[in-house]
Amino acid sequence: PDPERDRLLQAYDLSAKFYHFLLKNTEYGKEAMAYLRSRNFSDKMIDQFQIGFAPDRWDTLQQFLEKRSFDLAEMERGGLLSARSEGRGYVDRFRGRIIFPIANRTGKTVAFAARILGEGQPKYLNSPESRLFNKSRLLYNLHQARASIRKTRQIVLFEGYGDVISAWEAGVHNGVATMGTSLTEGHAALMKTLADEVVVAYDGDKAGQAAAMKSIPMLENVGLRVKIAVLPSGLDPDEFIGRYGGERFMDQVIHAAVSTVKFKLIYLKKGHILLEEDGKIAYVKEALEIIAALPSSTEREVYLKEIATELNLSYESLKQDCNLLRASLQ
Ligand code: ATP
Ligand code: MN
Ligand code: MN
Ligand code: MN
Repeated sequence: PDPERDRLLQAYDLSAKFYHFLLKNTEYGKEAMAYLRSRNFSDKMIDQFQIGFAPDRWDTLQQFLEKRSFDLAEMERGGLLSARSEGRGYVDRFRGRIIFPIANRTGKTVAFAARILGEGQPKYLNSPESRLFNKSRLLYNLHQARASIRKTRQIVLFEGYGDVISAWEAGVHNGVATMGTSLTEGHAALMKTLADEVVVAYDGDKAGQAAAMKSIPMLENVGLRVKIAVLPSGLDPDEFIGRYGGERFMDQVIHAAVSTVKFKLIYLKKGHILLEEDGKIAYVKEALEIIAALPSSTEREVYLKEIATELNLSYESLKQDCNLLRASLQ
């Protein structure tokens, strides 16, 4: 028994409900509601993901917790309040922000991610790590995605909360996200206990694609099959769905996810100027290193033929170079 833990869980649960109520039913929530609408969050998703709003005041949650006889020092340790910078007492940690409750595996709220309305820094503010909340082991939405993951043995991995929510509405019910872009070995190990395959659907910007590259060995090392859903440059899944709709997202992004080899080749290609001989040769050299390491000769042939056609080279010479490289790898 851990009474402080139980009290904190209760406080998070009540606070999530309170913030959700403030968003939906009070004057304070009007602007936030308009912002969510402008981003295409539906009422259904706002309810299902229990999205809320923390008014831009110092003592909204503090008074709420005090009235319910919670120990404010304990609430500060648990990340719901902050210690006043001068003098004694506590203030609300989240002010003027959209609240995304973060649940653990069993569906209990253990933290909040709080987004600023519109532009500004920091864009997201998270609860600190606490006895309830360990970022490096928690996947956002896992509790709701579990049923679908069990059925499909597959997980779709996103970067952000908005991506998970928009994708859910588009029909992806096995989607989760890390808290920020850093995927840990702990996350990979956890996913391996639940699924056989992960579809990485990170943002289509440079940071997202670099993070997708980094995720490949991490996920493959624990024995997961990996596919990569490639977004058009600059768009994240949430933005893609907003612009093109859920159906196109399913067809053109999720179901069109490519093999890791294909993704590595696409990624590599972006780093070279193929119209110049130097760039072309450097690209082929690095591509051959990826392809030569493939154990299946059929797979090697498929990718070599693609590159041959694309760069107007002969399959024979590519194959020869590839085999030389293979021999040196043995
Ligand atoms: P939005 O659509 O609301 O602008 P996003 O999810 O597209 O947000 P990104 O900039 O793509 O935001 O960042 C991906 C994820 O990284 C966020 O969902 C959040 O978990 C995390 N993140 C981004 N910025 C911060 C920050 N300043 N502090 C903490 N986490 C952050
Ligand atoms: Mn991003
Ligand atoms: Mn994003
Ligand atoms: Mn986004």
